[in-house]
Amino acid sequence: MYPENFAYFRPKTIAEASALLRKNKGARVLAGGHSLLPAMKFRLATPKALIDIGGIKGLCGVQMRGKTIWIGATTTHAEVAASPVVRKSCPMLGETAAQIGDLQVRNRGTIGGSIAHADPAADYPTALVALGATVVARGPKGERKIPAEEFFVDLFTTALKAGEIITSVLVPTMAKGSGASYMKHPHPASRYAVAAAAAVVGITNGVCSRVSLVIGGVSAMPVRVLRAQSALVGKKPDAAVIDSAAAQVAALVPDPMADTYASGEFRIHLASVLAKRALAAAFERAKG
Ligand SMILES: Cc1cc2nc3c(=O)[nH]c(=O)nc-3n(C[C@H](O)[C@H](O)[C@H](O)COP(=O)(O)OP(=O)(O)OC[C@H]3O[C@@H](n4cnc5c(N)ncnc54)[C@H](O)[C@@H]3O)c2cc1C
Repeated sequence: MYPENFAYFRPKTIAEASALLRKNKGARVLAGGHSLLPAMKFRLATPKALIDIGGIKGLCGVQMRGKTIWIGATTTHAEVAASPVVRKSCPMLGETAAQIGDLQVRNRGTIGGSIAHADPAADYPTALVALGATVVARGPKGERKIPAEEFFVDLFTTALKAGEIITSVLVPTMAKGSGASYMKHPHPASRYAVAAAAAVVGITNGVCSRVSLVIGGVSAMPVRVLRAQSALVGKKPDAAVIDSAAAQVAALVPDPMADTYASGEFRIHLASVLAKRALAAAFERAKG
């Protein structure tokens, strides 16, 4: 199906893009177009105007800034996956990007577009919440930094306010003695996550000193497995301890998402298995 008619703007600066968003009622930002354009073709989205941010300089790329990785909003999944900075300082994020969709999706889709879209089956949200990343947005009232944990608020819903545009994502680097892993069960057609788990852990003197375990694909937004904390911290992360931490996933989501491909029960089962694998891989990495 063809989308409804829309106006098209290609601003050169964020200020100009933000002003266009405010001025044109019903306008939407266009980044890689890999979620927005299909929605428009199905007429699930009928924006009156598209503000294409692809021509704005300084919105794309990956840089090391102190102990933080700066990733511009229009950086594609392929660029994140191939970035030497990401590979060295947060390999888990590069591995997450490399698992998104197929080559075409990775070459067009952007990190800003993915998180703004907030699809419950998307990969970045789960990984970014586990990593403790920060989303940077610019709008009519200036710049705002939003912790990833607070950014995803519901199904396809974020904490972005009217007129705000994501400009970058800030990701903390992995310190010595820490490790991270992202595991997903991809849908065989789209590669979206049917269920996923991201684990970030720290080891000090052979015992787990910190853990951040988040599951995705099972509910409207990423869910932190808070009980993994008490199951793991202060303990030697052997197979039995990892098993008991991953088992906490089962009690976490009382009403998991279900569709024709996977029941809620199956999703939770997958998430528990993936949590166990992600934790084991993260601890292996933390050992160095
Ligand atoms: C066949 C297929 C398979 C896919 N498989 C996967 C997968 O396995 N895993 C996965 O995670 N994703 C998958 N995707 C989604 C893909 O990653 C998209 O690229 C992504 O969701 C949207 O990014 P985009 O840059 O294309 O954004 P767009 O489609 O351009 O925009 C998406 C939404 O975000 C808004 N937006 C975009 N950029 C910004 C910004 N900087 N600030 C504020 N709002 C903004 C737009 O207004 C729109 O509402 C798949 C997509 C397709 C078509």
